[in-house]
Amino acid sequence: MTKLINRHADPATLMAYAAGTLNEALSAAVAAHVAMCPACRREVRLLEAVGDALIASLAPTPAPSGRRHPTRPVDVVLATPRTRRPVIDDGERLPRPIAQAYGLTFETVPWRILGPGVWHHRLQLSSPEEGDLRLLKIAAGRRMPEHGHGGTELTLVLDGAYSDQGGRYLPGDLQDVDEECEHVPMADKDLGCICLIASERPARFKGLIGRIVHPLTGL
Ligand SMILES: [Zn+2]
Repeated sequence: MTKLINRHADPATLMAYAAGTLNEALSAAVAAHVAMCPACRREVRLLEAVGDALIASLAPTPAPSGRRHPTRPVDVVLATPRTRRPVIDDGERLPRPIAQAYGLTFETVPWRILGPGVWHHRLQLSSPEEGDLRLLKIAAGRRMPEHGHGGTELTLVLDGAYSDQGGRYLPGDLQDVDEECEHVPMADKDLGCICLIASERPARFKGLIGRIVHPLTGL
C-alpha cells in the first residue's frame, strides 16, 4: 500500500540518524518513520553513502579510544529484543523495527491507562539517558494532556490521526518539535490515534491530569 506521507524527519534529524548520533529513543522513532517512508529511506541511504565515502577518503588512522562506533544505537536495541516471542507481522501498521525489537503487534501491546481515554506503553531502552520511548493510544476526539518537552520530541502516527496547532497528522507522518513548543494534540474524532512518541527527555505534563498522572506513570 502506498501512503502519502506529508511530514518527514527534518534534514538535521535525518543526518544525525544516519551518523548514529541520536539517542536510542529518537533513533527508534526515525527508524520507524524510515520504515514507512520511501522518501526518507532514499535520503538515509544517500547520507550513509556520503558518510561511507568520506570515511573511505580519509587516510587510515588509529581510532581514538572511546570513539563511538558508527552503528546507530537503535540497531543495537533492535538486535537485542527484550522478548523472544515470535514476531507476528500484522501488516502495515506497527513498523517492523518496533515490532521486531519488542515482539509486539497492535493486538499484543499491554496498554496501561494514563488518563480518561488515553493509554500508553513504555518501550524499554538500554538506559534512562537514552530518552523516553512509548506507544500512545488516544480515544476518538480525546485530547492529550498539555505538555512541554525537555529537548526534542518526535511523534510518529501509526494509526488514525491527530491534530494540533500545527495541523493534521496521518499515518506515517512524523512531527518533530523542540523544547520551546507546548502543544495539545487531539485525536481524530472518528478514528482516534495510535502513535509512537520519542522524547530526548521525559515529557512534562501540565494541568490537573498531568499532576495526577505524573506520580503514577513517571511522565
Ligand atoms: Zn519521510
